[in-house]
Amino acid sequence: MGRLYIVSAPSGAGKSSLLTALIDQVQDVKISVSTTTRASRPGEINGKHYNFVTIEQFESMIQQDEFYEHAKVFGNYYGTSKSWVAEQLESGVDVILEIDWQGAQQMREVTKDIITIFIVPPSIEALHNRLVGRGQDSDEIIEKRMSEARSEISHYDEYDYVVINDEFDHAVNQIKSIFASNRLTLETQQRTNKALLEALL
Ligand code: GDP
Ligand code: ADP
Ligand code: 5GP
Repeated sequence: MGRLYIVSAPSGAGKSSLLTALIDQVQDVKISVSTTTRASRPGEINGKHYNFVTIEQFESMIQQDEFYEHAKVFGNYYGTSKSWVAEQLESGVDVILEIDWQGAQQMREVTKDIITIFIVPPSIEALHNRLVGRGQDSDEIIEKRMSEARSEISHYDEYDYVVINDEFDHAVNQIKSIFASNRLTLETQQRTNKALLEALL
């Protein structure tokens, strides 16, 4: 069985960039593709960055109980579909959910076996600069995300780990070390190296 991770951060803190770098460097870990009703950004690919659906489709998925969790963020629906995540975990792959604090709270009700990471920017100014620098959202959307940032950040103390994304490579290494240490716990080692541990006794 793989382990389930949640990564949350205010929009623009660097969550997607950090996780893209992480999955290039760490084996057997995948990022869950969420379903959303927001419009796709230039360059975003349906099925890769998100599964883009209409509000009607999303509501019908809620009714069919297809989500582990779903939430309205910045006026759009976002949700984590059950089937893909469960399949990956069963095949031994660790899965990262890139979801907001509301989704994290719902997932803690689904399972206690979950490792949660909160990413913060080095300052509010840096967050604003990154959202502007990303060049993908209108001024109005950026202001909306900035005004939501403090309320997202106010949930940081509900998470197991906090990473400050100041120097990019440093933050990637810190996230890598969280994965490395969680793969060395007694429980995980007993599962993944069962034969060796038994043979040594
Ligand atoms: P970005 O964070 O600026 O890249 O913006 P996104 O549009 O990718 O994400 C918007 C918000 O939706 C963030 O707070 C995410 O954490 C959240 N989000 C994304 N996917 C999910 C999901 O499947 N479930 C929940 N609950 N939140 C999600
Ligand atoms: P999120 O997924 O949290 O909304 P992104 O990964 O899209 O954030 O990052 C927002 C912007 O900030 C991107 O343009 C990204 O290249 C930039 N960025 C991310 N991390 C850093 C960092 N440590 N230093 C400077 N810029 C960064
Ligand atoms: P963006 O629209 O910029 O891609 O994402 C905005 C926010 O939505 C981010 O904070 C992201 O973490 C959150 N988000 C993305 N997918 C999901 C999801 O499936 N569930 C929840 N709860 N939040 C999500």
